[in-house]
Amino acid sequence: TINVLALDASGELVVGVSTSGYPWKYPGRLGDTPLPGSGTWADLRGGGAACTGRGELSMRSGTARTVVEALRRGEDVEQACREALADAATLPDTFRSELRVLALTPDGRHGGAAGSASATYALMTPDHDEPEICRRSVL
Ligand code: ASP
Repeated sequence: TINVLALDASGELVVGVSTSGYPWKYPGRLGDTPLPGSGTWADLRGGGAACTGRGELSMRSGTARTVVEALRRGEDVEQACREALADAATLPDTFRSELRVLALTPDGRHGGAAGSASATYALMTPDHDEPEICRRSVL
């Protein structure tokens, strides 16, 4: 999955996602990426979030929207991401290690969380000449 979270100078925030889904997926599987609230969500009152990994987890727990709702309540970005993954992990028959989430707020704060391998993303702002690689550790 490719997740793009963008904020422009006027404060508009968008989240774009693209995926090929899972290899050897069963025919007709949709995945979380195109499902608002699951693999992607944006709301200027809180921010935007996007997931990658086992989409069944974010589809069942509404991970992207869970993150943004936490941001609306004023939570720290990293904390909001970690809590959303922890929430997904409480679902029966799940593997927390297979989901990652990134988030961006309307005032430019950003972060992410991962269940196993670190969440790694590239950050570009007007102050950057080249992308800065940001790594967020495992839960
Ligand atoms: N989240 C995607 C899906 O479940 C897979 C991925 O991240 O590559 O379809």
